[in-house]
Amino acid sequence: MRVYQKAEFFIGSEFITPKVGVLKVVEIVGKNKWGDALFGCHCSICHEVDPELYSELFFSTASDLKNGKIPCGCAKTPHHTERQNIIRVTRKTKEKNITFNGWANEYQGVMKTKCDLSCEICGYQWKTTSIRELIKNNNGCSSCAPSGYDPSKSGTFYVVEWTNIDGIKWIKYGI
Ligand SMILES: [Zn+2]
Ligand SMILES: [Zn+2]
Repeated sequence: MRVYQKAEFFIGSEFITPKVGVLKVVEIVGKNKWGDALFGCHCSICHEVDPELYSELFFSTASDLKNGKIPCGCAKTPHHTERQNIIRVTRKTKEKNITFNGWANEYQGVMKTKCDLSCEICGYQWKTTSIRELIKNNNGCSSCAPSGYDPSKSGTFYVVEWTNIDGIKWIKYGI
């Protein structure tokens, strides 16, 4: 009971995030498995800038907050839930004309979950090594864009059929 009363006093506390947002403790949402009160926190940056990704409050304990552990997207290495990672992967693949078909294995966080992708241009289907790898690198479909996004480097393979005056045909090709 004493703990619960103490917890209520913590509501309204504010913490400054690494991105200079204000993380405000707004409510008690329950307890963690050790019996510590879990608080719902609102971030002035995360919830304002990206309400789709951060549609819920961030949860943390008073001691974690006091120790500078930032539960929101302002953290140096923010933790994302599975739902948030689906949004992040979908956004990233859309930029590259890639369809995200879902996880290629059981969801196990950003390091171990693979993404099942297919190219909207050529239909090529493949799996990434991890969510982290997909978010980090900017490679598109390796099948139809082997040289990435540099237009000066990309080549087009062409085949031209020629017919001369005598009606003899030959094929010319190059890159
Ligand atoms: Zn934040
Ligand atoms: Zn392709």
